[in-house]
Amino acid sequence: MRKMKEALFYKKKNTKVQCFLCPRNCVITNNATGFCRVRKNIEGKLYSLSYGRVISAAIDPIEKKPFYHFAPASIAFSIAGAGCNLSCDFCCNFEISQEWSYLGEQITAEEIVSKAKRLAHGISYTYTEPSIWIEFILDIAKLAKKEKLYNTMVTNGYTSVEAVKELSKYMDAVVIDLKNSGNKEAYLKLSHAPYSEKIFDAILEYAKNKVWVEITNLIVTQYGECEKDVRNFCKWTYENLGEFTPVHFLRYFPSYKLNLPPTPIKFLEKCITIAKEEGLKYVYLGNVLGSYENTYCHECGKLLIERKGFYVTKINLKNSLCPYCGAKIPIEFL
Ligand code: SF4
Ligand code: SF4
Repeated sequence: MRKMKEALFYKKKNTKVQCFLCPRNCVITNNATGFCRVRKNIEGKLYSLSYGRVISAAIDPIEKKPFYHFAPASIAFSIAGAGCNLSCDFCCNFEISQEWSYLGEQITAEEIVSKAKRLAHGISYTYTEPSIWIEFILDIAKLAKKEKLYNTMVTNGYTSVEAVKELSKYMDAVVIDLKNSGNKEAYLKLSHAPYSEKIFDAILEYAKNKVWVEITNLIVTQYGECEKDVRNFCKWTYENLGEFTPVHFLRYFPSYKLNLPPTPIKFLEKCITIAKEEGLKYVYLGNVLGSYENTYCHECGKLLIERKGFYVTKINLKNSLCPYCGAKIPIEFL
């Protein structure tokens, strides 16, 4: 029988345990799991049920994550463990994040790294919430680093600062998937997440540890005070992460339990205007085809990277310098 993996970030409380991996801080009784359903108390020890199990795997362009300023045009071996510590009504991966009954195929960290070496330039932990899979990710990521593969994560950011510190030792880049600019009421109603303000602490911790950060911001206009929220989010990003932080405003489409109309394009265009007014230099729209997915030089405005959907069609950069005006562009190439 397979040996179970003891979880990190928990404390024993008599026969109960308390998990500190995310802001929920679940107190878990014997034989029960926490909110995410992948961490189980068995006789006073917390175990990771999803360790060594992959519920989804694919080969993706890194632009699909979306990373636009990290390893452009590279291929990411993309893998997921089951479950999530949020439960968003609009989740488009709900079959593997919410309503899964099978934990996925058994596989070792060595097998994953060997596949990644054959098929890709690095690994992306994505689709569901990777941080709740931390024990397995750390084992894979350490090996991947030795093999000169990159490690990237697409995360909701709902992770304790202590866990972020540990993940940051091995992550090269993260996309933080923010919802409604971090509006607390929207987080409670749409993602069923208390203490969502802690996401901003997690973002700061990744940045402090020199992990490359890009932020997506999915907007459901029926929740929160969208325009004000977007402005506050842009101000926060500028002040705390800097003007060159790539921000991707994402169009919401009806999915899972939410059947509201998609985010109006006009509002998304307004988001771009607000972000520029607040000083952000690299702002994109996701789930919208068109010029909003290209990268233009922040100094001279010339086209540097052209994208069509998830694919790069043209790169006009030499050693991260703009070929027209010589400005240093905040893009990390492999
Ligand atoms: S990671 Fe899971 S078990 Fe731990 S606090 Fe968060 S939801 Fe609860
Ligand atoms: S955080 Fe992401 S994976 Fe988790 S429920 Fe929300 S949309 Fe789905």
